[in-house]
Amino acid sequence: MFTNEDATRPQDVWDALKIGNQRFVTHQQERPNQDIVRRAELRSGQNPLAVVLACSDSRVPVELIFDMGLGDLFVVRTAGEILDPAVLGSIEYAIKTLGVKLVVVMGHESCGAVAATAEALSGGVIPNGLERILIEKVAPSILEAQARGKNTTPDFERQHIIETVVQIKSRVHEISERIADGTCGIVGVRYLLSDSSTKLVIADGVE
Ligand SMILES: [Zn+2]
Repeated sequence: MFTNEDATRPQDVWDALKIGNQRFVTHQQERPNQDIVRRAELRSGQNPLAVVLACSDSRVPVELIFDMGLGDLFVVRTAGEILDPAVLGSIEYAIKTLGVKLVVVMGHESCGAVAATAEALSGGVIPNGLERILIEKVAPSILEAQARGKNTTPDFERQHIIETVVQIKSRVHEISERIADGTCGIVGVRYLLSDSSTKLVIADGVE
């Protein structure tokens, strides 16, 4: 099984995640790194391959989708994969302290947060309470998509993934330098409920 010791480049990590997702798509999961030996190894610390920011949607479990195990992925999940200081701090911790070589932003098909925001903007009724936070965070992505003449729900989901990647690059300290010197990469992907695959939407430092 691929380990972080094998991952000398961000591209190696991204390739491992793509291969893991392919196993999931084809029902050939290996379910690696979940045995007693692995659990014992992890008692002394973690060395994950990547940090993944994904939507909290129950249909989008990160380790299952990439066929990864314990200690493989540092995962942050919020509804609509929205950013706030706690999320950005978690991503920065994974990069600077844990030394992950890849940042993954994973949105998905039929995202309720994106749909609710699109509905609020088109209907002109913005909810009160904490649900409003989701709308506030996702709205700029939808407005950006519309400004580019993209008006379908998949367009909104893809634009929100792009905007989230752009904001992580602009707000997380050092990430751009690490991408430039080849020690870190970032990808935005959209998970398709229809066939369980992850489609690349945006990438920097890997392909
Ligand atoms: Zn979602």
